[in-house]
Amino acid sequence: TSFAHFGFDEQLMHTIRKSEYTQPTPIQCQGVPIALSGRDMIGIAKTGSGKTAAFIWPMLVHIMDQKELEQGEGPIAVIVCPTRELCQQIHAECKRFGKAYSLRSVAVYGGGSMWEQAKALQEGAEIVVCTPGRLIDHVKKKATSLQRVTYLVFDEADRMFDMGFEYQVRSIASHVRPDRQTLLFSATFRKKIERLARDILVDPIRVVQ
Ligand code: AMP
Repeated sequence: TSFAHFGFDEQLMHTIRKSEYTQPTPIQCQGVPIALSGRDMIGIAKTGSGKTAAFIWPMLVHIMDQKELEQGEGPIAVIVCPTRELCQQIHAECKRFGKAYSLRSVAVYGGGSMWEQAKALQEGAEIVVCTPGRLIDHVKKKATSLQRVTYLVFDEADRMFDMGFEYQVRSIASHVRPDRQTLLFSATFRKKIERLARDILVDPIRVVQ
């Protein structure tokens, strides 16, 4: 597979070319077409596999399609991950690849200023990258709403479970409309993750790095 097989538009291809990636990684070759098709997906992949781009590129296509249809407030895509560092990394990738479409990304994570994050959310963003507890805090305070979310990603799910975020992860999934597309990434596929996948994904396709 080459990048041309994904059928991305010129704006996204331009940013990919600028990244000097020579070819898609295995998780991208398998995962991108599935995510583009709108199906739910389980990605068993570690850091370094290129998994972030595998969910960001189809996310951008999804948002550009959805933006026309869905007016209103709040993000269209939400990416949930375990730590502040990962949040900042994913947010940086969203900005880099989303720039060509003038899409806005906001990162909200524990330890950062509630007030500044709330302000950024209220200014509006199509993409929110978050740690689970902090997103719930903002939703409770009505700094943002999940009503428009149709693309939901859980990254490093096993690590979120290890950190005790299972309840928050499930809570976020239950507050997003059921006709969403959901992608779940995890380095391992233990029983607890399998159970989560059964509860929050619909007929998912599993991809192994
Ligand atoms: P990740 O597994 O998403 O954390 O990505 C690991 C690193 O690989 C990041 O620095 C990406 O910028 C880089 N990367 C992602 N996709 C590709 C690709 N197709 N070719 C080369 N590097 C890539």
